[in-house]
Amino acid sequence: MGNAIATEAGSFSLELPESVRHIQEIVREFAQQKLSPVVRELDETQRFPVELFREAGQLGLLGIFVPQEYGGAGLGYYEYVAAIMELGKVDGGFALSVAAHNSLAVGHIYYFGSQEQKQKYLPRLTSGEWIGAWALTEPNTGSDASNMDTIAVREGDGWRITGQKNFITHGISADVYVVIARTGERRTSRNSTAFIIEKGTPGLIPGKKEDKLGMRSSETSWVGLDRVWVPDSQRIGEVGEGFHQAMKVLEGGRISIGALALGIARGAYEAALSYAQQRTQFNKPLMEHQAIAFKLADMALEIAAAEMLVFQAAYKKNTGEETINLYSSMAKYYASEIGVKICNDAVQIFGGYGYIKDYPVEKYYRDIKLCTIGEGTSEIQQLVIAREILK
Ligand SMILES: Cc1cc2nc3c(=O)[nH]c(=O)nc-3n(C[C@H](O)[C@H](O)[C@H](O)COP(=O)(O)OP(=O)(O)OC[C@H]3O[C@@H](n4cnc5c(N)ncnc54)[C@H](O)[C@@H]3O)c2cc1C
Repeated sequence: MGNAIATEAGSFSLELPESVRHIQEIVREFAQQKLSPVVRELDETQRFPVELFREAGQLGLLGIFVPQEYGGAGLGYYEYVAAIMELGKVDGGFALSVAAHNSLAVGHIYYFGSQEQKQKYLPRLTSGEWIGAWALTEPNTGSDASNMDTIAVREGDGWRITGQKNFITHGISADVYVVIARTGERRTSRNSTAFIIEKGTPGLIPGKKEDKLGMRSSETSWVGLDRVWVPDSQRIGEVGEGFHQAMKVLEGGRISIGALALGIARGAYEAALSYAQQRTQFNKPLMEHQAIAFKLADMALEIAAAEMLVFQAAYKKNTGEETINLYSSMAKYYASEIGVKICNDAVQIFGGYGYIKDYPVEKYYRDIKLCTIGEGTSEIQQLVIAREILK
């Protein structure tokens, strides 16, 4: 590890451990050899490549921060960020699926599950044998998640869960769903609880695949819960802790969405830089027109700044610093908003070719937008940041 830098906001190290480069190389090779050849097909057909997802598990990418005793890679958030960035450069959708599986489904069970739950679920989830989904959002409640309609009621030695979840990553293909349901009155604190529901449980209804603007290789669907019964042993943590747990899970998840935005933005920037050096107009390369050179200069600067924020948040997550919530929201908010701008500029630099599917930037442009919405919109990040700085 390199020297820690002290700032008013705490300290963090800019020099990344050797393991980061190692995982970067592994992921780059996987992304180039396996993902790259099928990216266009996955985007056009909106297919979630289950076989490649399982392969990612074999490479250790489906339980990056989970200790080896549960089958994980036993690494930290620097390595997690690096892996998601590399995947995002090649296919945002696949990177989103890997991020949702790691941060949300696996993360929730790892951080809050019982010893028995961890032993039963994590080895299968981290190896890719099982695919995970995490279900908080509902048709009527997204940002306002604590007001959810889905309820879990005590019945026998278990719980009867009824409701519908919306926009769930792996809503159809998942083997294991972490579902957050209301167990108390609306608008009260401690009013929800998390449960693990296995595929095939009566009443669990995988819904219709959504037809999306971007991130099309990542599967998104609604999930019905028609009087699903689960034993109390499927409850994660204490009754009433579900919302609090979900917010902690999102704290880490937002770092991965920041990394995802960075990966997509970097892909768009690299494509635009190379194009601007090759394409000639008015007898000189685009790069020699100052308007284009300045656009690329700004893109390089914005990527560097976003990288600092994302790795700073990763540092805080690794070291358990109290300001993690502030920094994960800042990283997600800045990287995703700046990512949208960078991808827009990349399309502009490509001109008409930027609008055509034979060139990579139109897909980056479609994919990146999700980053300002999923795991808390930009407006919600502003709310979190405002609350944190007023503390
Ligand atoms: C591809 C994809 C994958 C997803 N995967 C998952 C998943 O795996 N699991 C899961 O649980 N969810 C998932 N989601 C859901 C996602 O987290 C929500 O879409 C997101 O949190 C926003 O909720 P909403 O769509 O209901 O928008 P709303 O909450 O209805 O927001 C609409 C607009 O109002 C703004 N707004 C809302 N409240 C406020 C406020 N208080 N102040 C200012 N502005 C506000 C929002 O910022 C937004 O601009 C996914 C979504 C997508 C598109």
